[in-house]
This record gives sequence, structure tokens and C-alpha cells, in this order.
Amino acid sequence: MIHYSIEELLKNNQSWAAQKRALEPGYFEELSAGQKPPYLYVGCSDSRMPLTRYTQTEPGEIFVHRNIANQVSLTDINFLSVLDYAVFHLQVQHIIVCGHYDCGGITAALEGSTTGLVDNWVNPIRELYFQNQSEIDCLSTREKRINRLAELNVIAQVKNLYQTSILRKCMRENNAPQIHGWVLNLKTGLIQDMKIKTSIWGLYTPNSELLSSSTSNNFER
Ligand SMILES: [Zn+2]
Repeated sequence: MIHYSIEELLKNNQSWAAQKRALEPGYFEELSAGQKPPYLYVGCSDSRMPLTRYTQTEPGEIFVHRNIANQVSLTDINFLSVLDYAVFHLQVQHIIVCGHYDCGGITAALEGSTTGLVDNWVNPIRELYFQNQSEIDCLSTREKRINRLAELNVIAQVKNLYQTSILRKCMRENNAPQIHGWVLNLKTGLIQDMKIKTSIWGLYTPNSELLSSSTSNNFER
């Protein structure tokens, strides 16, 4: 892959902005007036995971939090601030947790292939592997093992989302955004909706339709 130089990045920006202005003269004035995105995206920091590209969305449509292996940590003040702001101020209607196959963070957790802070960060995924070791170890290839753990990781992070005080407050008040677990296949560029069946977790919600809307689930085997 050929990478642009820093100077080329700035030139690209100028030509992109000029094209936008030519197509829609008021585009940037409208953009600068404020944001009301309907989506919060919790994704992996991986450079191959800009959700806006995969979904053909524009600036102003998706509020974003990304970290290595799309973790929803109940002690991460950065993530919790984003979630609080997205839910209570922006009033997003959907939260998308999107992992991906061939994820380096998942591989690091599964194989212990990294050292330093990342090794600490992915420890919850390593714990998740130990919880599901019998299922994962039975898979026939390394790729399948890594990708299955990526799926289980998305399910675990969706569950974590429901455990935050922010979502619990929303559910008590019956105005929680819909939460979606997705996994992106880098080999095809396609996103799969995991249709996570949250009702099995016995989470409190007065909106039972929200938590039992998915009746078929191919991912949580
Ligand atoms: Zn990743």
C-alpha cells in the first residue's frame, strides 16, 4: 500500500473541501452549526476500521469512540464520557459496537503476541477466551479461532454497555437507544449484524421489545 506524504494529505484536504464547496456551497457552514448524529460507533482503533467509509456516511452522522479491540470498559473515563455525552446530550438513537475479523488486539489476547500496555488492555479478552476455551480450541484453523473470539468479544462488549450506569438509567426511564453488535469482515468489506439476543442476560428493562427483538442468533452458539 502506498501512503501519502504529510504534504499530500494537506493537499488532499484542500481538493476535497473545494469539491464539497463546489457541489454544495453551504456544506461547511451547515456542518459548523452543530451536530445531531443519530449513531454512536464504538469500534477498534485499527486503521482499516473507519466506519464512515464502509457505510457511506458523512461528517455529522456518527459520533465515535475507538480503542484497541473495541472495548467497553466500565472504568474507562474516556469511553464513559463519550457514552454519557452521546446518550444524554446528543440523544443518539443507536449505539453500534463494531469489531472485525483479523483484529490484532484479539490476536494479541489469544496468543500473547504483544507486550507493554496493550497486553494489559487486552486482558479482558484473554479472560473471555478462557471462559470459552473449549469452544474456541475446537476450531480447525488459527483464523477461525481469532475470528470467533472477535465475535464473542463484540457480544461481551454489548453486554458491558448494558451494565453501565448510563444505559441502566436509560432503561429505567424506558428511553434507551438501540444497541447493535456488528462484525466487519476485512476480506470482503462487508458488515454482519450479529443480532445479539440480549434477553438471555436477564437485564432489567421495561422495554422488553428492545431486549428481545432478535429471535434468531447465529453468533451466540
Ligand atoms: Zn482490531
